[in-house]
Amino acid sequence: MRYYFDYNASAPMSEEVKDYIISIIDKAGNPSSIHNSGREAKSILEKARKEISLLINCDKKNIIFTSGATEANNLALNGYEHKIVSSVEHESIRNQNNTICVDVDKKGYIKLDMLENIINSLKAHKNKIISIMFANNETGIIQPIDKINKIAKKNNILFHSDAVQVVGRLNVDFMKLGLDMITISSHKIGGPNGSGALVISSKKNIINPLFLGGQQEDSLRSGTEPLLSIAGFGAAAKILNINKINNIKNVKDYFESEIKNINMGIQIIGENSNRIPNTFMIYTPSIKAETLLIALDLEGFEVSTGSACSSGKAEPSRVLMKMGYNKEVASSVIRISLGIQNTKIEINKFIQVLTKIIKRLKNK
Ligand code: PMP
Repeated sequence: MRYYFDYNASAPMSEEVKDYIISIIDKAGNPSSIHNSGREAKSILEKARKEISLLINCDKKNIIFTSGATEANNLALNGYEHKIVSSVEHESIRNQNNTICVDVDKKGYIKLDMLENIINSLKAHKNKIISIMFANNETGIIQPIDKINKIAKKNNILFHSDAVQVVGRLNVDFMKLGLDMITISSHKIGGPNGSGALVISSKKNIINPLFLGGQQEDSLRSGTEPLLSIAGFGAAAKILNINKINNIKNVKDYFESEIKNINMGIQIIGENSNRIPNTFMIYTPSIKAETLLIALDLEGFEVSTGSACSSGKAEPSRVLMKMGYNKEVASSVIRISLGIQNTKIEINKFIQVLTKIIKRLKNK
């Protein structure tokens, strides 16, 4: 029996999403072709766009499909000369050129005064953008997005946010938020991988498309659209029910309180910070994250050390180091990220197994 607690890495596809993809798998058309098959493909594409626009309340014309969030993040920032980002961004933002980093505090929130100072130091420069993630993929900590947006607007700078881990975990209303661009990803909400999107308030926000080619996505993202993936993305958006998320929060709160009840010195990172309802990170003193992860995996429980992208490497969590934790703590944390399939029964089993493993490892 496997127990999957790694939804932030990739959320499993539901039966409805699989059934929908299978129902259209024989459609051969290219959405840009004028013949009947092409028009059918186009209507599948536009149906998905509509479903996603309803989920996040945006104009469907402002959804630019990409191959995933990594590409959407690159598309958002491409061509900007000064990119003001946080120190805890995903690699797809952090590894870009010309970034200036805003630090986070011990609670995981970006330092707003530092953001303002950086903006002031760049007053003479044009062509700048702020890119700060909505919620962190490792800790689940939510940034003060409204406050950052006010600062951005006051200074007339565009604000992009990587909202990958927030869609499907919280109600995201793009129009109400008033952000310039957000990034979203299919496989984080139960769609297939291979598609994502950059959602924009205006086409002018994208100053340098990544690819040269055909006129797909209003020439902002050339290349034939991955139809099956996008169709599944739309289907996942359609069935996402925010009420189910409240159940996840109950399960997560139960999980956290049971972890504290076993009294083994485990700490929840950012316990008092504002966090998305499916994610938490635990610190197990003097047990290396990889050791715990492998022991849990052998018992059927799938968790992660920090982000999936870097979990192949035995390195301390960079996000935690940036929050001011030392190397010992940053090397001894695992991330648990839940989804609608997880139950309290699974949590009880996990707690039993975790207790057994910790006792065994401490007695070595
Ligand atoms: N941003 C965040 C916050 C993420 O968690 C991830 C996935 N780890 C990405 C971007 C990249 O997403 P994708 O796999 O769709 O490229």
